[in-house]
Amino acid sequence: MKVFITGGAGFIGSHLSDAYIKRGDEVHILDDLSTGSIENISHLKDHPNFQYTIDSVLNRSIVAELVDQCDVVYHLAAAVGVKLIVESPVRTMKTNIQGTEVVLEQAAKKQKRVLIASTSEVYGVSEHIPFKEDGNLVMGATTKGRWSYACSKAIDEFLALAYYHEKSLPTTVVRLFNTVGPRQTGRYGMVVPSFVRQALAGKPITVYGDGTQSRCFGYVGDVVTSLVKLMDSTDTVGEVFNIGATEEVSIGELAELIKVKTNSNSEIVMIPYEEAYEAGFEDMPRRVPDVSKLENCINFKPSVSLDEILDSVIASFTKPTSKSVKTESAVL
Ligand code: UDP
Repeated sequence: MKVFITGGAGFIGSHLSDAYIKRGDEVHILDDLSTGSIENISHLKDHPNFQYTIDSVLNRSIVAELVDQCDVVYHLAAAVGVKLIVESPVRTMKTNIQGTEVVLEQAAKKQKRVLIASTSEVYGVSEHIPFKEDGNLVMGATTKGRWSYACSKAIDEFLALAYYHEKSLPTTVVRLFNTVGPRQTGRYGMVVPSFVRQALAGKPITVYGDGTQSRCFGYVGDVVTSLVKLMDSTDTVGEVFNIGATEEVSIGELAELIKVKTNSNSEIVMIPYEEAYEAGFEDMPRRVPDVSKLENCINFKPSVSLDEILDSVIASFTKPTSKSVKTESAVL
């Protein structure tokens, strides 16, 4: 099979490329390296089944050519990271909405199988925990920059489903919850690599807000396994799936856990949201997925615990050659 992955030099895209290469498939990635990095794919660059193009997903003719050559398309290229999004909302909306339009338009011309990556951010400030795919999305005001990301990804979902209904394009939408693992950088604000880096350097561990907000962290290997299984199944066409773990931890507890695991002397400090992001910033107090639809459809349950995830991330910073956590994706 020939697999085209936009955003393939990113954190999740590069792990997805690894899984397909391991399976013996051909992979062509497209990435503009805005948040992805060549380092993430350096081990694949000489592989005979791997090709890469450094360009933007907004480049229609390049996307057309790469869609033409492949059997299936993963669209992962997007503006990511709350910090980046708050700082660059124009870029966020342009990349996310126009990029998805270009991919869907080109895929529709050739009726290629497509998977569009969305985000748990679309649930906004909904309090219906755990979040279910058919639940209401509750966005904050347009004056708060953060919600431009949620809205742009919600538009992506509408577009993908519209292409399915109107143009019979075989499309699946996934809402990725907080995903962590080796290769994720803290540069765009993601909390786990940021805390690990701070703890290892003996610098203050920066908890934003009061630390009572909680998240569920999923392992990238489990996420990749889910993505491949969703793509392999025809039952998933025209559907939206949450992908994530269900073990909930508060950010305050996470800071403590990482401090202990890294044996760090770092102090844990609380930074007000308006200092960390922007005035009036709104966080999501809890974010927990309902993953029953995913489990029922692909018969797979994310299995890597938070404890194992943190060990693997810490090892990737301290011993870069260490093996990742073994998941089903290792044998795809
Ligand atoms: N966060 C934090 N310190 C950091 C980075 C993030 O306390 O250095 C918090 C952030 O405010 C949020 C949570 O950790 O409540 C998860 O943040 P991340 O950006 O990783 O993902 P989000 O769930 O916000 O998309």
